[in-house]
Amino acid sequence: MTIALNPSDLSEAQNLSKLVRTLNLTGHNPATSGNYSLRSKTKAGYALVSESGIDKSTFQEDNLILVNIESAKQHDIFEGLGKKSSDETALHLAIYKATDANCVLHSHMLDAILFAELFKNQDMLKLSGMELLKGLDGIKTHETEVIIPCFENTQDIDALGEKIQPIIKSQRCYSIILRGHGMYVWGDSVKVAKRHLEVFEYLFKYELALRGLKL
Ligand SMILES: [Zn+2]
Repeated sequence: MTIALNPSDLSEAQNLSKLVRTLNLTGHNPATSGNYSLRSKTKAGYALVSESGIDKSTFQEDNLILVNIESAKQHDIFEGLGKKSSDETALHLAIYKATDANCVLHSHMLDAILFAELFKNQDMLKLSGMELLKGLDGIKTHETEVIIPCFENTQDIDALGEKIQPIIKSQRCYSIILRGHGMYVWGDSVKVAKRHLEVFEYLFKYELALRGLKL
């Protein structure tokens, strides 16, 4: 059974689904990894979070599940359907609680985790001086510094969700990295979150190329 989305959620869900299928082609989601979400525009206090274990090459809008941002419970309309949102749902909800984001993308791209390995003992990674930083919302000059909070990976996603909230709330940031795992990027819309992901991917590739992958 498919749950019909309200039209204003449906169009962003279609944009997100198309993006997920595209990202899958460029190494963001190997082996069903990665997860994606939207803040619902029609159900206040809910997010649409991607279903667990879905091959991202076939991702569709009916692979999104309505989850209450505060309680983390799936909406009643999904009861009995045998569908479950991503194991990392708590991180998406934490980002919605701590920021004004309307879209969260979680990629397992290699560039992000290799970039973090360049700075093994740092928990606030920094990017600066590059023109493409202006692709991030609110940044008007390359003469700036963007912080990426970086966390150790864990299977205790609820605890990690609690940990990231105060940090991303108090810093101007657009993303976090989980070591040996991947990155979360967010934005005001699917379009903006995609642009932010592209900025980070490009800058990580630059930093890695510059250092000749000498970790
Ligand atoms: Zn993951």
